Amino acid sequence: MLLIPGGQKADEGEDTDLSGDALKAKLRRKKKSSTDERLITPTASGPSYTVSMSIVRNVTAIAKGMSITFGEIFQPIQTENYPDGKGPMKGAKFQPRFRGAHQLQRDENGLEKCVACYLCAAACPSNCIYIEAADNTSEVRISSSERYAKVYNIDYNRCIFCGYCVEACPTDAITHGHGFELATLNATNLVMHKDQMLVPVEALTAK
Ligand code: SF4
Ligand code: SF4
Repeated sequence: MLLIPGGQKADEGEDTDLSGDALKAKLRRKKKSSTDERLITPTASGPSYTVSMSIVRNVTAIAKGMSITFGEIFQPIQTENYPDGKGPMKGAKFQPRFRGAHQLQRDENGLEKCVACYLCAAACPSNCIYIEAADNTSEVRISSSERYAKVYNIDYNRCIFCGYCVEACPTDAITHGHGFELATLNATNLVMHKDQMLVPVEALTAK
């Protein structure tokens, strides 16, 4: 028996004529081939055990999935029936803080709250607010201040509903409503004008 570094042994007579490195290489080849044999030679219980476990795992997974399915079948339905629901919202529901299409508000006297200060347009990161100011006169008074917005447009092609305009407004003239049905096939329809956003006077008396 020949003892080589690493504690492995080689048979005498067979390897004694090999140098140290050649002997180590031969032992490595032997070790590798015996490992390969173990990998490809089925043991008595190996393959059948693997197949059995695979079947058990699959059946368990199917049973688990079906238990969730049948458990949910009898739960209350959570989806909203929009647009076939009842009421003016057609089944849609919102959180109170939902940011929908903007509204231009009026004060308690029915005058427009917007005083055309341009702060909302300056705060808008999308640069989608367009305002033209005009002066109130003694004959025609639109807002309670010196000026009012003669033109007030918001381009919803660009608006990201960030709410910065609402935050910037010193008179609470612009707010987010709950309007959400903005989809259209014509992009020009997404430019909202003042008359589309201005709260009607009748809405004040209805409050
Ligand atoms: S919500 Fe934001 S992006 Fe839209 S108009 Fe206001 S500031 Fe501009
Ligand atoms: S909506 Fe408010 S911030 Fe914008 S121009 Fe009118 S008053 Fe100024």
